[in-house]
Amino acid sequence: EDIEEESKWKEWELKKFQEFRFEIDFTSSVIIKLTKGTAEIFGAELAIGIEYEIRGQKVAVFTWHGCTFEIKGKCDVEYIADETPMMSYLNTHMAIEQMRCKIEKEGGNEPRVMIVGPPDVGKTTLSKILINYAVKHGRTPLFVDINPSEGTVTIPSTLTATVIDKPIDIEEQLSVLPAKSSMAPLTYFFGYLQSANKLKLYNKLLDKLSETIQKKMDKDSVVRYSGLIISTPNDLSNNSNWDMFTSVIEKFRVNVVIVVGHERLYSDINKFYQDNNEIAVVKLTKSGGVVNRDSSYRRIIQNYKIKEYFYGTHKCELAPYSVIVSFSDIYIRTIEQGIAPSSALPIGMERKVQETRLVNVEPSEDLVNSILALTNVDVKETENDDEEDDILIGTKLLGFVHVTNVDVEKKKITLLCPCHGRIPKKYMLLADLKWIET
Ligand code: ADP
Repeated sequence: EDIEEESKWKEWELKKFQEFRFEIDFTSSVIIKLTKGTAEIFGAELAIGIEYEIRGQKVAVFTWHGCTFEIKGKCDVEYIADETPMMSYLNTHMAIEQMRCKIEKEGGNEPRVMIVGPPDVGKTTLSKILINYAVKHGRTPLFVDINPSEGTVTIPSTLTATVIDKPIDIEEQLSVLPAKSSMAPLTYFFGYLQSANKLKLYNKLLDKLSETIQKKMDKDSVVRYSGLIISTPNDLSNNSNWDMFTSVIEKFRVNVVIVVGHERLYSDINKFYQDNNEIAVVKLTKSGGVVNRDSSYRRIIQNYKIKEYFYGTHKCELAPYSVIVSFSDIYIRTIEQGIAPSSALPIGMERKVQETRLVNVEPSEDLVNSILALTNVDVKETENDDEEDDILIGTKLLGFVHVTNVDVEKKKITLLCPCHGRIPKKYMLLADLKWIET
């Protein structure tokens, strides 16, 4: 009976400004089809008559003018909401769009928007909405994701910047598939899931990322006018991280700070910048549709991002390869933070302030299930530590591999790779992240 029920189309009607919220887990899917009117999912418009397969998402179909759509399959949660903050989100977009029009006409600053707030207030969702509205205006904003814990356009433990030039895919959202943007994301390897754990390294990468972004904008005025949409980690909005907070604003020359769902934080930021007329602070309310995600659900999302990297999505499957490599052919480093204790230094030697350093990792069974980032840095025969540190931190990545087996006796390591071929003689960086393939 249930199965029969699930294979039938069920019709829903929305009046203008209403939204249909639904949740569907990762193991099943629903098909949604717009039959009349206009509707969007987080700012991306649904086309009439097209069947979209949605899985593993908590989303809302919103309409500005009213619509009718059909759904096939069973949602875990489904209801219609009358109240949404969409009008204020649209107005925010319009204000940002005005900044873009203004630079085209008379010069000025491109919008550099940073979205902040506590966990689960819809920060990522708002980034998507603002990106989709910008794209609808023919813009190509840079989506900057400095939240290493989730991974949007690639696996977690990275910081990324991606030029987005088409609406975000309704079925896959921000996925790791390169086809989703005509430009591959710029990826920096952080290696950890929480920015607060390794602030110095995190800061260093933010410097690199912001410099590269600046260079990109200097070269490409279309991207520059479109501006930045920066998605931030939850812990950035903790009161204890105020210095970090202001330094991100400085580094990326942020001129619009959007605070979602946190009055106190809004008031603090507003007060702090009240004499600075270069920075606008905007307050937006949290949507009642935003779903709280507990740590086990977050873990599931992280795992899915990694799986997506190697195996693709339901819509576009990828076939990774397994390769066996000798210990002597791989060069793994991990980035550590801290200063060498003075006692460990030979007498008379000055303590060198090392904020981040690279440590050699000998292959062992501990590596099983780890993620390694393959850098584009050639292994040199003679190593100069300092130089190597600097080159490797903030280097361009060729991709990621997954350690599936380590045979200590035979001194062989088995790696899952996204593409075929020999593993080049380049340095690899070890992430503090394990993934068990299921
Ligand atoms: P944050 O980035 O602040 O942690 P997210 O934007 O990731 O929050 O939102 C948390 C969850 O709520 C996500 O799964 C998102 O898809 C979902 N969500 C956001 N807005 C809505 C909505 N209006 N209806 C249904 N689900 C929503």
